[in-house]
Amino acid sequence: MHAFLKLALCATILQATIVLPAQPQTNPSAGEQQITRAGDQPSAAGPAEFFTGRVRIDPVWPADTNINASGGQVTFEPGARSAWHTHPAGQRLVVTAGVGLTQEWGKPVQVIRPGDVVWCPPGVKHWHGAAPTTGMTHLAVTGMVDGKNVTWMEKVTDEQYSAR
Ligand code: MN
Repeated sequence: MHAFLKLALCATILQATIVLPAQPQTNPSAGEQQITRAGDQPSAAGPAEFFTGRVRIDPVWPADTNINASGGQVTFEPGARSAWHTHPAGQRLVVTAGVGLTQEWGKPVQVIRPGDVVWCPPGVKHWHGAAPTTGMTHLAVTGMVDGKNVTWMEKVTDEQYSAR
């Protein structure tokens, strides 16, 4: 074999077998993966000031600098509901169990069921809760403005609740 060809061949084999040292794998975002374990966040009763009937709130995640919206699972016993309220940055509700009701001020009461996703725009007065004879659970994802995510108003009367 020609000496030059031999050299070129040798260089090619060498290149092919050289393994470059691996670049250190760094996470592009700050911090590390974090798992909040089931049972780490105690349930709380929905305060009587803001809710009618029995309501349980299970915190899922707090708003933080990464995602400026909190998540909470809210379970309403039959007939239970929130007071009228608004959210400064809006709210998404994902019904996960039971049958519920929701209403925007000035509009009819609507039935909501598992899989339904409700968007409550910023500043729009509304309430949500269970149906009269069936409980309801929803995941509430609520945006935060200046550390605040809700403005509470008056209670939903039995007449308003039953107007269907
Ligand atoms: Mn709401």
